[in-house]
Amino acid sequence: MNNECIFCKIVSGELPSSKVYEDENVLAFLDIHPVNPGHTLVVTKKHFESIHDTPDDLICKCVITAKKVANAIQAKLNAEGVNIGMNNGKAAGQIVFHSHIHIMPRYGNDSFKLWQGKSSNPEERDKIAEKIKLGLA
Ligand code: AMP
Ligand code: ZN
Repeated sequence: MNNECIFCKIVSGELPSSKVYEDENVLAFLDIHPVNPGHTLVVTKKHFESIHDTPDDLICKCVITAKKVANAIQAKLNAEGVNIGMNNGKAAGQIVFHSHIHIMPRYGNDSFKLWQGKSSNPEERDKIAEKIKLGLA
């Protein structure tokens, strides 16, 4: 537990939350500033900062929970679509530095825009793909 971390305080029960799911490793609760009602956060119970330091088995458990929550949101809130996302690092919009996945219900008329793509060309894409591959090797 990180004493300065609001999600650690939610996990420990020191701060309130509207919980939707809990097991040994993972907690899911509603976001206080939802994109749409039902916007849920899935967090690891242990404190990790982002995807980069979260162990593989725990991030897998979070993704499995995210899928269950997405199914429930689709079935019970009549969501027409669901975005699942994770902000990692300040530049990516991360505000709370405790590893978490967003599950966001979407409706055709909600006019929420997640990102805007830039133009690119095949040579540039191939060069970048090579760089990423070096990091995966
Ligand atoms: P981010 O770090 O940008 O991926 O997002 C952090 C999210 O946590 C934001 O969408 C906030 O609205 C949400 N949030 C912050 N404090 C709380 C809280 N006490 N309970 C529930 N959600 C929170
Ligand atoms: Zn934490």
